[in-house]
Amino acid sequence: MKKRVIVIGWDCAAPELVFDAFKDDMPNTQRLMSEGIYGELKSTIPPITVPAWMCMMTSRDPGEIGIYGFRNRKDNTYDAMSISNSLAVKVPTLWELLGQVQKRSVVLGVPLTYPAKPFPGWMVTSFLTPGDLNTHITQSNLQCTFPPRLTREIMQNAPEYMIDIPNYRTDDREVLEKDLIKMTRERFKLARYLVERKAWDFFMMVEMGSDRLHHAFWRYWDIEHFKYEPNSKFSDTMRNYYRLLDEELGSILALVDKNTTVLVVSDHGAKRMDGGICVNEWLQQNGYLTLKHKPLKITKCKPEMIDWENTKAWGEGGYYGRIFINLAGREPHGIVRAEDYESVQNELKEQLEAIVDESGENINTRVFKPKEVYRECNNIPPDLIVYFGDLYWRSVGSVGYNSIYTYENDTGPDDCNHAEMGMFILRNGEHIRGSIPTKSIYDIAPTILKEFGMNIPNEMQGEPI
Ligand SMILES: [Zn+2]
Repeated sequence: MKKRVIVIGWDCAAPELVFDAFKDDMPNTQRLMSEGIYGELKSTIPPITVPAWMCMMTSRDPGEIGIYGFRNRKDNTYDAMSISNSLAVKVPTLWELLGQVQKRSVVLGVPLTYPAKPFPGWMVTSFLTPGDLNTHITQSNLQCTFPPRLTREIMQNAPEYMIDIPNYRTDDREVLEKDLIKMTRERFKLARYLVERKAWDFFMMVEMGSDRLHHAFWRYWDIEHFKYEPNSKFSDTMRNYYRLLDEELGSILALVDKNTTVLVVSDHGAKRMDGGICVNEWLQQNGYLTLKHKPLKITKCKPEMIDWENTKAWGEGGYYGRIFINLAGREPHGIVRAEDYESVQNELKEQLEAIVDESGENINTRVFKPKEVYRECNNIPPDLIVYFGDLYWRSVGSVGYNSIYTYENDTGPDDCNHAEMGMFILRNGEHIRGSIPTKSIYDIAPTILKEFGMNIPNEMQGEPI
């Protein structure tokens, strides 16, 4: 019988929610767990959507792919940042490897696939697809599908399909909740259409709604969140959304036979956000960064504001912090000598890991050197990767706070941060069942190749689960 593999991706789905808190609301998921194996899935460093899904689908780390986040330094100047897209991914993806042996894939909504590159199968690109508020598939942007004629087919058969919701960093949570439900229903509607109509061997989809959900509604659910609101009308939004994910999963499972290998995976987890560490304020306070003028109000830290001749390092905001060292001979006005690079790096790491909260307690910041965590460091990696407060705190790049702490986000409302541990469930008809120890995001592609009886390329980092 022809082997088929289907992967349902729930972006940001947290193991403690799927396997524990909401499990009674997720009967289809529970059944799948009882018929297979499941556990935590350790994400990439950093645990961010881009590059995590692409690392999962290539079994290569962010350094090998050369993509360290949504935005990456384009060159060694101070202001050139570029948004990554699929053209930057030079290593083969799983669907490309499968295509080499005439296996056809459906790839729906996997981050970092825009613009869609030709391969044997059908692709609908993900959020990060430009145009029309990033929400709908239209003829104006044919690169959002492969083959391009799939665009017309979607407009005819799933005209309400939404790539992403228009604005998830909004205070209007009522609209957001409705948009989320609609987007997810429409995505699975299109998924069912593709599952039934296309002759695929490998099917993969990613639902982004779970990520948007966590960032907007975590506070209404997690009693430990500092902004927890009891008895809110959104108290059940998180639970109801997971119920929806489960119902939609059930609708897909109903379309595949028992011989089809099923994987449900997330690219990382989620955890409450306790606040933000203003990385550039911290760098100023500790003598690494000098601004030409003290800003009078909170403002984005722009290169022209920095006195580069007196700056050893600067930082970027985001779910994790990135620190760049102003290295002589590399940056235009670099002042750190090459022979001091490592000592500055070490000193920064030590001081960052000593950061305390406002009550004086160490927040357990973890700092990584790219060369120590990646096999290669292609393109321009940050000089340090920082998990402030073990990711209970985000990194805030703006300046003008007069404090290293902030409890409002400089890029819009946000309740949660990403966590290292995502989740997986695998049902492939094997007799081993139940919970197993933590696996790695790099194990997913080898697992799928093994299901197809294919060799696992040496370059892949993971092992079949
Ligand atoms: Zn994600």
